Amino acid sequence: MLSPAPIYLLSNHSRCKMSSSPKEITIIGGGIIGCCTAYFLTRHPSYSPETHRITLLEASNSNAGGRTPDSITDPATLADPETASKRNPAHDGIAGGASGKAGGLLALWAFPRSIVPLSFKLHDELATEYGGDKRWGYRRCYASQIDCQARLPPGFSSRMADKKNIGEAEPVSNGAERVSKGLHKNHKKGIKELEKLGAPEDLDWLDIEESLTAYEGMGTPDNTAQVHPELFTRSMAQLAEEKGVKIVTGARVTAINKTPDDKSVESVTYEKDGKEEILPTTDCVVAAGPWTPRLLPEIPINAARAHSVVIKTPKLVSAYALFTSIMLPNGFPTPTPRDSRGAPGAQRPLRGQQIVEPEIYARPDGTAYACGPTDDIVELPLTAAEVEVDVARCEDIIYQLGGISDELGKDGEVLAKQACYLPQGGPYIGEVGPTKGLIVAAGHTCWGIQNAPATGKLVSEIILDGKPKSAKLGGCDPSSKYVNIIGDDIVEARSFVY
Ligand SMILES: Cc1cc2nc3c(=O)[nH]c(=O)nc-3n(C[C@H](O)[C@H](O)[C@H](O)COP(=O)(O)OP(=O)(O)OC[C@H]3O[C@@H](n4cnc5c(N)ncnc54)[C@H](O)[C@@H]3O)c2cc1C
Repeated sequence: MLSPAPIYLLSNHSRCKMSSSPKEITIIGGGIIGCCTAYFLTRHPSYSPETHRITLLEASNSNAGGRTPDSITDPATLADPETASKRNPAHDGIAGGASGKAGGLLALWAFPRSIVPLSFKLHDELATEYGGDKRWGYRRCYASQIDCQARLPPGFSSRMADKKNIGEAEPVSNGAERVSKGLHKNHKKGIKELEKLGAPEDLDWLDIEESLTAYEGMGTPDNTAQVHPELFTRSMAQLAEEKGVKIVTGARVTAINKTPDDKSVESVTYEKDGKEEILPTTDCVVAAGPWTPRLLPEIPINAARAHSVVIKTPKLVSAYALFTSIMLPNGFPTPTPRDSRGAPGAQRPLRGQQIVEPEIYARPDGTAYACGPTDDIVELPLTAAEVEVDVARCEDIIYQLGGISDELGKDGEVLAKQACYLPQGGPYIGEVGPTKGLIVAAGHTCWGIQNAPATGKLVSEIILDGKPKSAKLGGCDPSSKYVNIIGDDIVEARSFVY
């Protein structure tokens, strides 16, 4: 049973009274959103481990899901093993989904605008406070948009495309070829607007002479940064645990139970080691990423699988995030179509040309990360541990990188081939309907790493102050109705109001 906390009287500049009501807080999901929520709850001025019991339940108990067996298992071993966030075997399963397999780009030009500035600032403060540069690879970086023409990989030639059994680029109405879009595509400008070349000198790991056709800077170290998402998420979990959060992995929540009058949350039911457990809960935060609608069907979040690779480069590559547009020539290995399974090692030569948009992030640990487009071939499995990797889709990215860079291609070493599910449709942050104590923090699209600290802080305020204080929720509030416009694109249109 939780005891009431003391009420502190503070100076004029501080709040006079702190929340003292005992709370049993359950966070569902050990991705970056759940772990940041746990961290910020424990750093809230009203938090007291005597009064507030916080439990984080994570369904998976392994990070091996969504990675091929030959992939590296612990990214900390790449960075300085003395200073990088250590692996805690009791936390295996934390960051097992997208939060461990994302790029890790942070930007003041991300969306939604209501929470981005707060989150970018919090990332910076966390890095300063805990040595995030060494612990989770935090650094300021550049972001650029590049147009390239890929070279053919060894063993492929344009003549092969004339033979039978070839892949076809589908022409679209304007005469160009169909593009498989990058994840952060909404930030990209039209090719016409790009300046011709003018690439900076330190971008020396791209084949500038042969491949680059256009370059434009998008973000600078003033407004752009990066983290290693798995190491960051792992650190947030560790820091939260040090202040009293109980982390339970291999614990899949199957129900959120309400009081008989339906007015408040009462408990959650979860399965662990084949047994069913019930955890009394006054405040339940659903941070289950793309799995959220399985617990809260009223929250319209979609899941789309995305593949990525990690390449060890022969030398440290300069700090750029590259939004690419790569023209694949006739005879290049055909990218796996969005709507069919890949054939690993058996890509057919392309007939015609095709544009692809992998995103590439140089990392300070001597690697580069790159991700490809989303697909919807395999439905979201039960847990992150069961995510299926389509090796051919990873090979597509590897061929494409090799077509524009020797460092990422023939001179690089592939360390990881992986897949995860991108939560689409949100973010949703706030109370769900009239049920007291039911909060959602999910659906963060391609900016969940960027927006996790603000989300965690705002959720901690909703629970311990009764309302968000550090930023306005704006369109993130599940009860809002809005249309979010980025550039000329409507990226989110909501009509979901309680
Ligand atoms: C390829 C790719 C690249 C990306 N790059 C970037 C980037 O550069 N910058 C950026 O800001 N964002 C990026 N993102 C987006 C970012 O990764 C996500 O928005 C973010 O990781 C979502 O975090 P989450 O905690 O909500 O979800 P997840 O990481 O999916 O975590 C949810 C967790 O909940 C657990 N769970 C689910 N159901 C239950 C249950 N019933 N009980 C208990 N636990 C449960 C799952 O096992 C999982 O561990 C990228 C995403 C992808 C796919």
